[in-house]
Amino acid sequence: MDNFNIETKCIQSGYKPKNSEPRVLPIYQSTTYKYDSANHLGDLFDLKAPGHMYSRISNPTLECVEAKIADMEGGVGAALTTSGQAANLLAILNITSSGQNFVSLSSIYGGTVNLFAVTLKKLGIEVRFATPDMTESEVDALFDENTRLVFGETIANPALNVLDIEKYAKIAHKHNLPLFVDNTFATPILCRPFEFGADIVIHSTTKYMDGHATVVGGCVVDSGKFDWNNGKFPELTEPDESYHGVVYTKQFGEAAFITKLRVQLIRDFGVAPSAINAFLLNLGLETLHLRMERHCANALEVAKFLENNDKIAWVNYPKLKSSSDYALAEKYLPKGVCGVISFGIKGGREAAVKFMDSLKLAAIVVHVADARTCVLHPASTTHRQLTDEQLKAAGIGPDLIRMSVGIENVNDIINDIKQALDEVR
Ligand SMILES: *Cc1c(COP(=O)(O)O)cnc(C)c1O
Repeated sequence: MDNFNIETKCIQSGYKPKNSEPRVLPIYQSTTYKYDSANHLGDLFDLKAPGHMYSRISNPTLECVEAKIADMEGGVGAALTTSGQAANLLAILNITSSGQNFVSLSSIYGGTVNLFAVTLKKLGIEVRFATPDMTESEVDALFDENTRLVFGETIANPALNVLDIEKYAKIAHKHNLPLFVDNTFATPILCRPFEFGADIVIHSTTKYMDGHATVVGGCVVDSGKFDWNNGKFPELTEPDESYHGVVYTKQFGEAAFITKLRVQLIRDFGVAPSAINAFLLNLGLETLHLRMERHCANALEVAKFLENNDKIAWVNYPKLKSSSDYALAEKYLPKGVCGVISFGIKGGREAAVKFMDSLKLAAIVVHVADARTCVLHPASTTHRQLTDEQLKAAGIGPDLIRMSVGIENVNDIINDIKQALDEVR
């Protein structure tokens, strides 16, 4: 499959039917698998033979979707989880335990900030935040002998900063540590972080990959390129007692990280998605390339319209030449920077609420990144308990509107914005 372009991989990778088998990926709605001998099952439990044991660990429908996403990202393996949150959690826990720490960019998804700064802290794992404007030596100063990895988002949700992947890959590798990149907003259509030195990629498949707002899900992808045999990762290079002493790097080579994540953490935390959800995700993936193209084209037109409108105070979209991340976007995201835009309306909180209430096509929802255009006003919803001053400290202006531009006709989207702006005095 490796020689095909990404558009072809969206459709053809993963499921490979044999003679007279179903053309479309079947939903294997089975918890259980059948064996000809007790010995074979014993070998499965010792990870000596490939195959499925139990759908909490793996399933044939999931396996095909995992193979497709791994191929799209250019990795050696992938594992689906029940949510993006679960994917980030397991990826971190796979090489981090109590008493250790990791470095993360500060401009990341709010849910991930909670996971890192509140919940992981309770487990004894410390996150050390790096701001995007820090120099390399300032970031270096965050590391110590207990630091395990570096984390960032290709396109930050909702700040929309573009990650300088090569910079952070270089810093991580200098410390003999891997770079983890949450590639949710970019998807492998717009950016494949492994090509720039990232080692592990994570997705909330809930967003563009599903694309229709039907299934919450996540995925971890392993590049297979990081050398875990550098003395820092005994969890991968020393025997795992829960599998009769398996050594992941010895038995699974370049797929050591993703194999451990599945057979140890997905097994123990119980976060494998259902076969029907994997099937729905696969349908989304089949049109991902077409949808991303339209999301990007529509969003750029909407961003340009907003930038030229008198009632708009500011617009943040990295493909606008006015964006401070324009050069990074050109380098890492030449085809586009997804459908999400943030902007402010003159008149602050009150004007923003009036604008939102006046929209007819764009709906007010908490979700982003599906086919339908939607908007969110953090100051009056997700962050409504904060004062204007507290909002400012959190980097969210009282006027900030996050618009997720869908794949409708762009003129209809712009006309809707126009008529709503007319309602704002
Ligand atoms: C939504 C999101 C998540 C969390 O994913 P869920 O599927 O909602 O659990 C993580 N990272 C980013 C960048 C997201 O946008």
